[in-house]
Amino acid sequence: MRLDTGTILDGISTLIGGIDLGGTKIEARAYDDAMTEVSRRRIPTDTTSYQALLASITDQVSWLKDQGVTSTIGLGTPGLIHPETGRMLSANLPATGHALGADLAALTGHIIPVIKDCRAFALAEATHGAGIGYRNVIGLIIGTGVAGGHVIDRTIPPDHNGQSGEFGHLPLPAHIVSELDLPVLACGCGLVGCFETLLSGPGLTRLAHHMTGQDQTAPDIWTTIPEVKSTWLRIAASLVGIISRTADPDAIVLGGGLGTAHGLADELAKALDGNLLAGTAPPRILPAQFGDASGAFGAAIYAQQHVLKGAT
Ligand SMILES: [Zn+2]
Repeated sequence: MRLDTGTILDGISTLIGGIDLGGTKIEARAYDDAMTEVSRRRIPTDTTSYQALLASITDQVSWLKDQGVTSTIGLGTPGLIHPETGRMLSANLPATGHALGADLAALTGHIIPVIKDCRAFALAEATHGAGIGYRNVIGLIIGTGVAGGHVIDRTIPPDHNGQSGEFGHLPLPAHIVSELDLPVLACGCGLVGCFETLLSGPGLTRLAHHMTGQDQTAPDIWTTIPEVKSTWLRIAASLVGIISRTADPDAIVLGGGLGTAHGLADELAKALDGNLLAGTAPPRILPAQFGDASGAFGAAIYAQQHVLKGAT
């Protein structure tokens, strides 16, 4: 079987495809070689079985081919992707244990590089969004979960298990738990006391309940209970401090429903005092520019980089 890796270096204009695979929908977008979107299509994700999931994705690959995408197609997906075997570890797709990229290549005849969706977000923002001009960029999504990606000089550095960027599953620092009287909760990842348990959208609801006894949705808490918001900001600032001491980014781009709340980036930047090593410069905290488009766009960039790497 012939695997076409693309011809974007030969001077012939060609379209690039990106697919954003989610638990309920699969969105495909086609871009020209200036990365301007030319078409898009959204279909439901069939999660009844792995074979059904593959059929959903190949349907989108066929549509991209019909749009004129001849070779380069990237796929962004939730879950971890092992960097050597390509095997998936996914909580909300029936793909755990499967090498999704290899199976799609066998079905479609195309190499389809697969990237974790949070990393696609980080790559999109670092190369074409809020992180332009910064060399060491963290994309940090704060929404239903807390996760992100690390981009250095416009590429994602290699890692051992594909888990770098799982910022939400770092543990809350003991001094923050003590000073703010925070609950130490079991996390969906199997660990205990993770940042995600209090920083995510559902985490904010838990935090508000712990502090006030009230059950409210995240948007209401944000606007009506300022003491919960200030506590949440202290927790978030503590996470930024840990990210700074480990990855030392010059920019952190915030995404997700909570991460892109109006004014949050500036408020978080102001809350960083006391969370950074003395004498160090804080990272710039920036709101994302792409919105929902980052998954497909980042996957397309990842595929483009895969082709370029293969061509050198
Ligand atoms: Zn966790």
